[in-house]
Amino acid sequence: MAVLVLGGAGYIGSHTARALLEAGRDVVVADNLETGFRAAVPEQARFYEGDIRDRAFVDHVFESEQIEGVIHFAANSQVGESMKEPLKYYDNNLCGTKTLLDSMVAHGVDKIVFSSTAATYGEAERMPILETDPTEPTNCYGETKLSMEKMMKWVSLAHGLRFVALRYFNACGAQPDGSIGEAHDPETHLIPLILQVPNNQREQIAIFGDDYPTPDGTCIRDYIHVCDLAQAHILALDYLLKGGENNVFNLGNGVGFSVKEVIEQARSVTGHPIPAKIEARRAGDPAQLIASSEKAKTVLGWKPQYDDLHTIIETAWKWHQSHPNGYTE
Ligand code: UDP
Repeated sequence: MAVLVLGGAGYIGSHTARALLEAGRDVVVADNLETGFRAAVPEQARFYEGDIRDRAFVDHVFESEQIEGVIHFAANSQVGESMKEPLKYYDNNLCGTKTLLDSMVAHGVDKIVFSSTAATYGEAERMPILETDPTEPTNCYGETKLSMEKMMKWVSLAHGLRFVALRYFNACGAQPDGSIGEAHDPETHLIPLILQVPNNQREQIAIFGDDYPTPDGTCIRDYIHVCDLAQAHILALDYLLKGGENNVFNLGNGVGFSVKEVIEQARSVTGHPIPAKIEARRAGDPAQLIASSEKAKTVLGWKPQYDDLHTIIETAWKWHQSHPNGYTE
């Protein structure tokens, strides 16, 4: 039996496909290559190019392979873009998931682990955030992810499918050997954008707002290494395979860093002065997001290996230095 990784050519999906193979699993990857890269898919994985909104394509994958469980990353994930193009997010994240679940039910595939996000919480009332805290997204990306969670709940009740939603905080870093890493076009995430400065691809980094209610006025986030996220997906799938019930887990390090602190760490890793300029706030950004991941540690036995931002940025820097243009060389 194989694990189907949807969106396995993307950033977190490709690291998870690799981790599954290293754990001795049989892996099938499907991706529409809209934002993912064929070169990011491990050679040992069987690859299907297509879109989860295409029912015939999804049916074909389930009919061609013996799938024991699905890990679903195939979604759009940019806060800023989701505020400008909300219907794109409803179409891919919600309509895509609806088509996928339809096909899973029809083919008797009843286990799914999928990417949710800290953006489901919105402006949280307390830190660190627990899974039971209120969910009031402040952006359309978070709203579609929360709706995906709810869709899974009702499909589970009606059809017996079981799911785990993993609410990531800020995914970052790269495979430590530098072979795969983060590559978006255009790039919007903080750490890869900062590293474009010492890589001579950008003059300076913009800080989106310094008037937030935080100690230095810039937004605080919980940065979690992509390889630790990958391990959490394998643990979550095994939890479902052992009969675990529907569940939602936060995944973060439980430590917050401000935008200014992240820039400072990147200066220390790269030895480059990395000039920064204050700009206007970006729409939809909550001031602070820090995870409590105690539940994932207790229930799944998750043990993040990278709890230090300096080391995390070092892995990202190794990837970006060796692949300044991502996979498109
Ligand atoms: N950010 C910034 N400058 C940039 C990109 C991002 O100041 O060029 C800030 C952004 O406003 C947020 C934090 O960095 O507070 C992390 O943003 P990112 O897009 O990496 O992740 P998100 O928190 O949106 O998932």
